[in-house]
Amino acid sequence: MLELILSLFITPSNAPVSNYSTVVTTLQRIQAENPTTSQMIDIGVSDSGQNIVALKIGDGETADLIVATHHGNEYGSTAVAMGAAEAFAKNPIKGHTVYVVPVLNISGFDARSRYERTSNGSLDQNRDYPGPCITGKPFKSKATKALADFIAKANIVSSATLHTHWPAVLYPWGFSTNDVSTKDDATFIQLSKDAVVESGYDVGNSKELLYAADGAFEDYAYWQHGIWSLLFEMGTTHTPSESQMKQMVEVNVPGLRRFLENAPKQRAADHAFTGKCDRNMIQRTHLE
Ligand SMILES: [Zn+2]
Repeated sequence: MLELILSLFITPSNAPVSNYSTVVTTLQRIQAENPTTSQMIDIGVSDSGQNIVALKIGDGETADLIVATHHGNEYGSTAVAMGAAEAFAKNPIKGHTVYVVPVLNISGFDARSRYERTSNGSLDQNRDYPGPCITGKPFKSKATKALADFIAKANIVSSATLHTHWPAVLYPWGFSTNDVSTKDDATFIQLSKDAVVESGYDVGNSKELLYAADGAFEDYAYWQHGIWSLLFEMGTTHTPSESQMKQMVEVNVPGLRRFLENAPKQRAADHAFTGKCDRNMIQRTHLE
């Protein structure tokens, strides 16, 4: 079954072929095979006019989110989300309801582009959320607004946002400030370590290990709501082969499960940003 999912992404020449409709069809098949534990839902409509689908898994009190492909070219992240959807549908996390959104940037996914085409132009979804150091207008994308509305309405407690390609699990803050500590650093560090038992990825603060980026989902979820929010940067390439994706699924799905199982059952209480923004901070240009 895992091979079936992964083969959707790859042709014999190693070029990815999967498009959004095959992802939806696969999610429907996972739902049909696990009718008592999973349910297809829509979280909203994208700028391209397509439904943003999610698989709702389990019926526990604690609600969690796994979201992939803010960056449309990062199809390896969708593969891991689909692997998690299948594994959790077969064996839900007790006491939890997990929502899996395999593709947030639908037009980017179909075009193999990092960026989403929207009525406000082409944009990077992971720079489109409100944040304490944001100067521009957020939510130019209907998809990011839909996801933001969804995490509020569904009372999401923990979230994992999936990206490629840098082997690390990262925690807030990651925006343009030198004051990167939160009051929850100890919890975030422990949860990150829980997430990398199988992968052996690095763990660290988003800004220190990656780069400062304003308007990212992972900071927004914690800053706005106190959601236990981790960023999974997975693998070593934006164009993983089928065997590389299989490895990414195998080492990250157990880590996702352990993170969600071990995270506190309530959102963080004291999650305000009290530091200073540094808008002159030089942002490194490599893109994850
Ligand atoms: Zn990315």
